[in-house]
Amino acid sequence: MQCEQCGATTEEDEIREFGGKNLCEDCYIDAISPAKTCDPWATYTASRLDTQELSPAQEAILARIDQNGEATLEQLMEATGLEEKALLREFAALRHMELAGAAQRPDNKKVFVRFQRQG
Ligand SMILES: [Zn+2]
Repeated sequence: MQCEQCGATTEEDEIREFGGKNLCEDCYIDAISPAKTCDPWATYTASRLDTQELSPAQEAILARIDQNGEATLEQLMEATGLEEKALLREFAALRHMELAGAAQRPDNKKVFVRFQRQG
């Protein structure tokens, strides 16, 4: 299947429906993100803060990632006790703060990792 947002070819079981569209996981996270990712000032403000206030769920997500350097969605759901949608919303906030990101493993499995600046 194809993501209707970015056109990426995506496994059918990874497709998520939002607002009547079939989205890949990245676009889905963007879609449900409470923060506007297109707001450069918000990103700038968030990324230059040394101490950021994290919710307990966000702290649990980062702690779980730090255990192995990466974590799967299932592991994060277990660590936070959140259901998938709530977890992805928390994760979107972390992504927005540039604290965490998603990565693709060679076996095509998607994992969540600490944010690494490109370049
Ligand atoms: Zn997409």
